[in-house]
This record gives sequence, structure tokens and C-alpha cells, in this order.
Amino acid sequence: MKKRILLLAGGQSGEHEVSLMSARSVLSALPRDQFDVTPVVISKQGRWLPPTETQRALESGEAATGGDLVLHRVASAEGYDAVFPLLHGPMGEDGTVQGLLTLAGIPFVGSGVLGSAVSMDKVMTKQVLESAGIAQVAWRLAVRREWQQNPQGVRDRAAELGFPLFVKPANLGSSVGISKVGAPDELDGALNLAFGLDRRVILEAMTSHKPREVEVGILGNDAPIASPVGELRFDADFYDYETKYTEGRATMHIPAPLPPEVAERVRAEALRAFLALDCAGLARVDFFYVEETGELLLNEVNTMPGFTTTSMYPKLFEAAGLSYSELVTRLVGLALEER
Ligand code: ATP
Ligand code: MG
Ligand code: MG
Ligand code: MG
Repeated sequence: MKKRILLLAGGQSGEHEVSLMSARSVLSALPRDQFDVTPVVISKQGRWLPPTETQRALESGEAATGGDLVLHRVASAEGYDAVFPLLHGPMGEDGTVQGLLTLAGIPFVGSGVLGSAVSMDKVMTKQVLESAGIAQVAWRLAVRREWQQNPQGVRDRAAELGFPLFVKPANLGSSVGISKVGAPDELDGALNLAFGLDRRVILEAMTSHKPREVEVGILGNDAPIASPVGELRFDADFYDYETKYTEGRATMHIPAPLPPEVAERVRAEALRAFLALDCAGLARVDFFYVEETGELLLNEVNTMPGFTTTSMYPKLFEAAGLSYSELVTRLVGLALEER
């Protein structure tokens, strides 16, 4: 099968013409027996040219104006003032759609490319938050190529964390592909599952005791506020997919029954994480609280958390006095806010 390539050239920068020249070279240099290349020239106004105009622009070496609002159409957003990309996981919550909308010049709810991409990737998140001095579980990264070529190296690295440990695709949500690995003989199966879903896999130590799971909502852009803290309780080994989405398997406690100083720490750490990751609009920050030791460990940041009327995030702000409709109105306002 030939590889189909979309070649974007031109664009809004001062190197528009240089880019078109480079594109012409690349176009003629890509072997046609291996690649099926589709060029799209982006005019200086940031519009995508249809094929014939793209061809003309490549020949003339410049496309100052013209073009079609292809990006707007791709985003199904022409004529709207803002987009609410209520999408979870890769290709939605990870900066890709945000990039599309950013290019299209359409304001949207939630984090931009950077905050979305970094927060989606559990390893990147851990690295950024580590440098911000936020406590987290011990972790290791493994990539698919290594798992294919040197599986023992990956197993050894996992063993450094001790058992049980968690194996997770780095860029997913809803607990999809996550395993709690109780013993070394369960490790390969967990890694195969995770690598079937992602090129990057994170291995995580477990806390010393079964942790309490507490979550907090953040709302705002560069001066965000934190909601009250909520807690999830469930009767399962961990908060897996089935427990998350089967009615009645988990209960939400808002506010979480925590000592006030612990709740305050949760809120403060969540705000610090939100800013460190350059998030915007909203995020739900999830923690493990180890009651026995008083440890508070940040688990993850979800930049587009579950958003049904019964989901944790809106419920947390409802407890703060903001109704669901007020909340979504506020989010659109934040999307339109100058930053
Ligand atoms: P979400 O749907 O919230 O986006 P997710 O798919 O990103 O979830 P995590 O929140 O990382 O996944 O993990 C899912 C669940 O697995 C947690 O809520 C918790 O119950 C359990 N878990 C994950 N990592 C650990 C850990 N290191 N120690 C203990 N439990 C863990
Ligand atoms: Mg998540
Ligand atoms: Mg998620
Ligand atoms: Mg989670």
C-alpha cells in the first residue's frame, strides 16, 4: 500500500514563499511508487486552497489571498463564535482538535494545544509536575519499540517499582487498557494490552495502602478557581471501566469527608498543577490520598472531564453554587476571554 501524504505548505509566516519552494522540492522528490502525496497550500490569510488553486500557488510561488475555509468546514464550525470540543482522549482532548481550531481561528472551550497535549500524556504530565514539586507515585516509561526488541528490559524496569503496579497506555482515559498487575507473571499480558493501544506506556507504583480517590474541579484561565473536593467510593479492586460506567457501582461524595487542611491541600495542589501544565477553561484533577500516611499524590489531570449532568466535574461546581447551565455559560465566556 502506498503511503498517502498530506503536504501542507505556505502558511501565514514570513517564510510563506520559502515554504512553497521547499514544498515543490519535496513534492518532486517523494517517490511516487511509495507515496501518494496531496499538497494543500495555506494562503497568507490562513485559508486552505482547493486542489487547482494549490497547484497554481505552487507554480507561482505565492498565495497571498484566496482559499477556502476548509479548516472551518473540517471543524464544522463556520459561522460559530466558539466551539466546545467535548471530546475525550486522543484526537480530541490531546491538542489535535485544539490545533485545528486554533488554526481556524475559532475560540474553543478548554485548554489549548500545549495544555491539552501535555495533560493527555501521563508521562509528560508526570515530568512537568515533578519539576513543579508536586508529589506523585513512582513511575517508569516504556515505548513499544523497546517492548518489541528488549522485553526483558521493560520487565526489569517494571520490577523496580515492585508489585502490585499499574500498567497504563500513556494517552487514554476511562481506564481503557489499564491493568493492576499483582505479580510478575501477569506483567506481559498487561503490557501487550497497553501497547496495543498506545506507543507509550506508563508503569506506576502503587501507594503503600489502598488510597482514597479524591478529585477537584478547576475553572478559569490564568486566574482559576478550585471547586470543593469530591471523593469516589466503589467496591472494586480499582476504578476500572466497568465500575466507572455501570450505574450504581460507584458513589460520589461531595464534599469529600476530609479534614479541612487536607481538602485545602488538594485544592492548592490542583491549582498549581493546572497552571504548571498551562491548562485553560477547565480541568478535573485526580488525587490519591493515603489516609494512613497523610500522603497526597496527584494521579492525573483531565482537560475535558466527563460532562454529563451527573458527572463529577459539574457536580463539584454545583456544590459551589454554580448550576450546570451557569457552568457551561461560564466556560464559553472563558473561551472568548482575552488571555
Ligand atoms: P479517567 O477516566 O479519569 O481519565 P484514566 O483512564 O486516565 O481515567 P487513571 O485515572 O490514571 O485512568 O487510572 C484509573 C484508576 O486506576 C484510578 O482511578 C485508580 O482507581 C486506579 N489507579 C491508577 N493508577 C493507580 C496507582 N498508581 N495506584 C493506585 N491506583 C491506581
Ligand atoms: Mg484520565
Ligand atoms: Mg479522562
Ligand atoms: Mg482518572
